[in-house]
Amino acid sequence: MQRTLAICKPDCLARSLAGQVLSRIEAGGFRIVAMKMIRLTRSQAGHFYDVHREKPFYPELLDFMTEGPVVVAVLEKGDAVESWRALMGATNPAQAAEGTIRRDLAESMSRNVVHGSDSPENARREIAFFFSESELLAAEK
Ligand code: UDP
Ligand code: MG
Repeated sequence: MQRTLAICKPDCLARSLAGQVLSRIEAGGFRIVAMKMIRLTRSQAGHFYDVHREKPFYPELLDFMTEGPVVVAVLEKGDAVESWRALMGATNPAQAAEGTIRRDLAESMSRNVVHGSDSPENARREIAFFFSESELLAAEK
C-alpha cells in the first residue's frame, strides 16, 4: 500500500464540488486515511509550493490557494501516487483525459480543482506537512 496527498483546492469548495471529488476518490478504490478542512496562510502555501518559487505563476498560485478553505486528505491504495494523478488528469484541463476530475470540472490551468503529490518521496513530505502522526493513526483499527 502507498499513500498520497490530495487537496480539494479553494475553487473546488467555492463551487460545491468537494462531495463529487470525494465520491470519485471513494469510487476509485482509495481509502481515506485522514482528512480536514483548513485555510492556508500565505506562508504555508508558499512553503508547500516552494518548488515553483521561481515560476511566473507562483504569486497567482499563492493568491488562489489562500482565497478560501481547502480540504486536505491522505489517500491510500496500491500505487496511490500514480493512481490519484490519473484520476485527477493533466494540470491543464484542456489536455486532461476524458473522465478525469480536471477535464470534467476544472475551469482553467490555474484553477484546476485538485492537487496530488507527484512522487512517493513528495507524498511523504506533503503528508507530513499537513498531518501529525496521531492524525494519521485515526483511521487505523
Ligand atoms: N499552475 C498555474 N499555471 C501553470 C502551471 C501551474 O497556475 O502554468 C498552478 C496549477 O494550479 C497547478 C499548480 O500551479 O496545479 C502546481 O503546478 P504543477 O506543475 O505542479 O501541476 P500539478 O502537479 O498540480 O498538476
Ligand atoms: Mg505538482
